[in-house]
Amino acid sequence: MAKYLVIVESPTKVKTIGKFLGSNYKVMASQGHVRDLPKSTLGIDVDGDFEPHYITIRGKGDILASLRKEVSKAEKIYLATDPDREGEAISWHLIAALKLAENKNRPVYRITFNEITKNAVKESIKNAREIDMNLVDAQQARRCLDRIVGYRISPVLWAKVKRGLSAGRVQSVALRIVCDREQEISDFIPEEYWTIDATLGVKGSKKTIAAKYVSGDQSELKDKADVDKLMKQLKGKDMSVAEVKRGERVRKMPLPFTTSTLQQEASKALGFSTQKTMRVAQQLYEGVDISGQGTVGLISYLRTDSTRISDEAETMVRSYIKSAYGDKYLASMDAVPKSNKRIQDAHEAIRPTDVELSPVKIKEDLSRDQLRLYQLIWKRFVASRMAPAVYDTVSAKFECAGYKFTAASSKLRFDGFMSVYTDADETKEENNSLLNDIDNGTTVIVSDLHPTQHFTQPAPHYTEASLVHAMEELGVGRPSTYATTITTILTRRYIVKEGKNIFVTELGETVDKIMKDAFPQIVDVDFTANMETLLDGVEEGVVKWKTIIENFYPDLNDAVNKAEAEIEKVEIRDELSGEKCELCGRPMYIKYGPHGRFQACSGFPECRNTKPYYEKIDVACPKCGKDVVIRATRKGRRYYGCIDNPDCDFMVWQRPSGKNCPKCGKSLLIKGNKLVCMDNECGYSEDKKDEK
Ligand SMILES: [Zn+2]
Ligand SMILES: [Zn+2]
Ligand SMILES: [Zn+2]
Repeated sequence: MAKYLVIVESPTKVKTIGKFLGSNYKVMASQGHVRDLPKSTLGIDVDGDFEPHYITIRGKGDILASLRKEVSKAEKIYLATDPDREGEAISWHLIAALKLAENKNRPVYRITFNEITKNAVKESIKNAREIDMNLVDAQQARRCLDRIVGYRISPVLWAKVKRGLSAGRVQSVALRIVCDREQEISDFIPEEYWTIDATLGVKGSKKTIAAKYVSGDQSELKDKADVDKLMKQLKGKDMSVAEVKRGERVRKMPLPFTTSTLQQEASKALGFSTQKTMRVAQQLYEGVDISGQGTVGLISYLRTDSTRISDEAETMVRSYIKSAYGDKYLASMDAVPKSNKRIQDAHEAIRPTDVELSPVKIKEDLSRDQLRLYQLIWKRFVASRMAPAVYDTVSAKFECAGYKFTAASSKLRFDGFMSVYTDADETKEENNSLLNDIDNGTTVIVSDLHPTQHFTQPAPHYTEASLVHAMEELGVGRPSTYATTITTILTRRYIVKEGKNIFVTELGETVDKIMKDAFPQIVDVDFTANMETLLDGVEEGVVKWKTIIENFYPDLNDAVNKAEAEIEKVEIRDELSGEKCELCGRPMYIKYGPHGRFQACSGFPECRNTKPYYEKIDVACPKCGKDVVIRATRKGRRYYGCIDNPDCDFMVWQRPSGKNCPKCGKSLLIKGNKLVCMDNECGYSEDKKDEK
C-alpha cells in the first residue's frame, strides 16, 4: 500500500515520476489548474480589499473527488507541480480545494525539480518545503491584473467594434508593437543608393579578388550620375593597395537556451511556431519512452529566462566533451559567461537531462519534431561549453583616383563549438584567397566593375521569432507568456502570418486604434514592462501584491467609464454605409465580421441581405478612373485597390493621395508627412500640405 501521495499536473508526469519513487508513493495528476476566477463575473472585490474569489473549475469535480479519496489514505502529501509561479499557485489552490491544511497530523509539502530524472525527483523529496507565498502572490497579482484588463476593457471593444473581441494586458501591447512597426514600414520613404562590386586581378595570377566600394559621407553613390562619374575615372586604371591587415577573428560559443532564444532559434532553423516549440518541448520535459529505459524526462524545465546551468550539469557536459572531442574542444572555465541573474537564481537554462543521450542514440524513440527540437537543444548545450571558433582573416584596402575599395577573406582555422552547433544565421567563410598573396606594393588590375542599384529598406515585418525577441528586449511578458500571447492575437485575427512574416489585419488596426485612444496606459510598453518588474518584486517578497492592484484599478476604472460614456454618445445608431439595399431599398449598415467589415441590410431580420463593404477614399483609380477603396488580402492584410477589381488590377499598400507625380505621372502615395511617387525608380517626393 502506498503511504505517500504525490500530486503533479500532467498524466505523462505521473508515469515518469511514479517509476522513480517506487511503491510507497502514489502519483496522481491534477490535470492543470483546479481553481480559478469565475467565468461569469469579474471575481475580484474591487469595491473592498481586492480579494479574488476563486471557484472550482467546471469539469474538475471528478478529478478532485478521486484526489480526495487518496488524500484520506495518505500519511504525507507532496505537491509536485511545475517549478515556477504558476506551478506554485496550482499547489496552493490544491491545498485549498482538497482542504489539505485541515488535517494537522498529515503534513503537506511542496517539492520542485527542474528536470524529471530519478536523481532530481529523489533529491526534491529530501528538500521538501512549504508553499512559497511570494511566488503564489506574484501569480495572483498577474491573474488579477489580466482579469481586470480583460473583463473591463473587452466590453468596450464589443460596443465599438463587435462581440467576441478581447483586450489583454500583455496581448494588447504585443499587438501595439506589431502595429507600430507596420506604421513605420508604411511611412518609410525608400532612398536610392548604389554599390559597386569590383573584380581585381594581380599580374601572374589566374585568381581574382572580389572587392566592394567603400561609401562614406563624401563618397556616397546616390544616383546613376555618381556611378557614371566613378566608372569614367576608374576606366582602364590600376589600383594601389593601401593597406593589408592579417589577423584572426574569434567567434564565441552561444549560451544555452532560454525559453525566448529557443523559440527564436526553433522558428529560424526548424520553422516551428512559438506554440509548437512549447508543445514539443513540454513533451520532451515530461518524458518520452526510450527503449530499454522506460519514460525519461529528456530536457530541463522549459519556461525559464536563465542561462545558468547546475554544477552537476556542468561536470556532465565537460566530461562528455573531453571524451567525445578531446581537451582542445573544451571551453576554459573562465571563458564561460556568468549568468547575469541573481546568484541564488534557482532556475536553469533549457538543457538535456543526460548529455550521454545524444540525438543519434535515441532517434528511433522520438517523433520527427521531438528529434529535431531535442537535437537543437542538445547541440546548443554542448556547444555552450566548447572552445570558441577561430578564423584567420585578411583584409585589404584599395585606392584609385580617390575612390576606396575593400576586400576581406576569412578561413576557419579551428572550428571549436561549430563542430557541433551553428545557428540559423551563421556567417560563412569569405573566400578571397588571393589576398594572401598581396602586400602594400602590389598593383592590382581592375578587370571588372559591376554597379548595382538599391533602395533603402524599411525595418522588416515582424516574424514570431523577432516578435518574441522584441517582447523580451522591451520587458513585455515573461517566458511563460510569449507563446500564448502571440497565439492569442493570431487566433483573434488581429494579426496574420504570410509565410513567416506577421501582418496586422484591418480588425487588429481598429482594435489597436481604440486601445491607443481610450487606454493609452494599457498599451504603453514602459508601463507594461514596469508592471512585470513589480510582479518580479512580489516574487522576491519586496512588493505586496494587492498594492499593485489597488494602485492599478482606479485609473483603469476611470478610463473604462470615460470610454463607455463616449460610446453611448456615438452608439445611438449603427454606422450607415451610404448605400441602399438592392433587394428592399433600405439603407445598409457597416458591420465587423471575422474577415473585416461588411454591409448588412438595416431591414434585418426581414431582409438578410449582406454584401462586401469597401471604404472609398475619395481618390480616382489612376488606371480606370473608378473609385479606389480599402480592401484586404484573403488573409486580411489591408491594401488600397480599385473597386472594379478583378477587372482592374490597380493595387498599392500605402494610401494613394489622389495626386499624380509631376515627374512621371504615376500615383503619389501618402507616407507619413510626405507624398511619394509609387515608383521607386522615379524617386519623386514632396511635403504633404494640410488640406485645411
Ligand atoms: Zn434589404
Ligand atoms: Zn481601376
Ligand atoms: Zn514619379
